[in-house]
Amino acid sequence: MTAPIVIIGSGLAAWSTVRELRKLEALSSMALQPITLICADNGDFYAKPTLSNALAQKRTPAQLVTTPAAKMAETQNVTLVANTSIHKINAAARVVQTDKGDFSYDRLVLALGASPIRVPVDGDASDRILSVNSLTDFAIFHAKLEGSPKHVAIMGAGLIGCEFANDLVLGGHTASVVDPAPRALAALIDEGTSLELQAKLAPLGVTWHFGTAVSQAQQGLQGISVTLTNGKIFDADVVLSAIGLRPNVQLAKDAGLTTDRGIVVNELLQTSNEHIFALGDCAQYGFVSGKIQVLPYVMPVMHASRALASTLLGKPQPVRFPAMPVRVKTPAHPITVASPV
Ligand SMILES: Cc1cc2nc3c(=O)[nH]c(=O)nc-3n(C[C@H](O)[C@H](O)[C@H](O)COP(=O)(O)OP(=O)(O)OC[C@H]3O[C@@H](n4cnc5c(N)ncnc54)[C@H](O)[C@@H]3O)c2cc1C
Repeated sequence: MTAPIVIIGSGLAAWSTVRELRKLEALSSMALQPITLICADNGDFYAKPTLSNALAQKRTPAQLVTTPAAKMAETQNVTLVANTSIHKINAAARVVQTDKGDFSYDRLVLALGASPIRVPVDGDASDRILSVNSLTDFAIFHAKLEGSPKHVAIMGAGLIGCEFANDLVLGGHTASVVDPAPRALAALIDEGTSLELQAKLAPLGVTWHFGTAVSQAQQGLQGISVTLTNGKIFDADVVLSAIGLRPNVQLAKDAGLTTDRGIVVNELLQTSNEHIFALGDCAQYGFVSGKIQVLPYVMPVMHASRALASTLLGKPQPVRFPAMPVRVKTPAHPITVASPV
């Protein structure tokens, strides 16, 4: 019997690849390829962008799950191996070694996502700084906000930091956003639009601190005492770090695959090993011209998963990325960035 296609991950990239594969098989009346999906989390399907607009909508973490893992596995005809740690990918033997045993593959898809970047912060509350890049992270953040209105210090005035700031104030909380840059979304939009966004959010309860950074988070009598590099000190109930993501490359690197900022893939989303593919936040699209080849957004995942499904079913299809605008979910001042790369 042929070994299955093994997919590692259960985020948008993994589940979209499964869905596109099944769609193509149905369209061309093909026999179903065996697929095994291995992931570190429980495999529930949710739309990650909803994590930064759930508070305004009063949605709980459980309500953000659009399809539970078991239902996804059943409807997509996938063998799900959830809550699993991967020890190693043995690329020569085409085996993924995990704490639940070894899984042989015919083709392997890496949909490993990215991890929040953390910067060193002094103080005895630095280990209480949160990041939100998964539903599990959001559940922890959400629990900290329960009860009375809270004040949240947000490190980073980029896309995720601004979206959380807007969502927090719409959810009845307040926020202080801290960024070394001179303005909000400085890497993505022009100065005028930044100033408009800042002006719209300030009266709703967002305080901006630009040109400075969080240097210390100290346990205080009332929550966490936050010290900035410019000497300002204020209290917060929660500190949220939103300073960016780093693609998860270690497994690939250890397997001998070419990695740079992400796992380097060609137009067929093939890594330096012809049997291993990668897409989504963990991938670096080496063929895309320009400086930034990591595309941590939904649209690139959709295009990549469609092309990859065809390639995996024996019809190699190079991925082509069109212009992919990104909508910044700041309802106080909605912004669309024409192309973030
Ligand atoms: C708060 C927030 C809001 C966003 N809003 C938008 C938006 O409005 N528009 C937009 O375009 N983009 C948005 N994004 C980005 C977008 O959601 C991501 O680009 C996309 O979801 C990435 O999907 P992924 O499958 O590549 O990664 P992930 O969803 O991170 O999935 C990675 C998977 O890999 C698994 N995994 C990782 N390491 C291992 C391992 N060693 N072993 C086993 N499993 C492993 C994880 O458990 C997870 O299941 C947002 C992101 C965040 C955090």
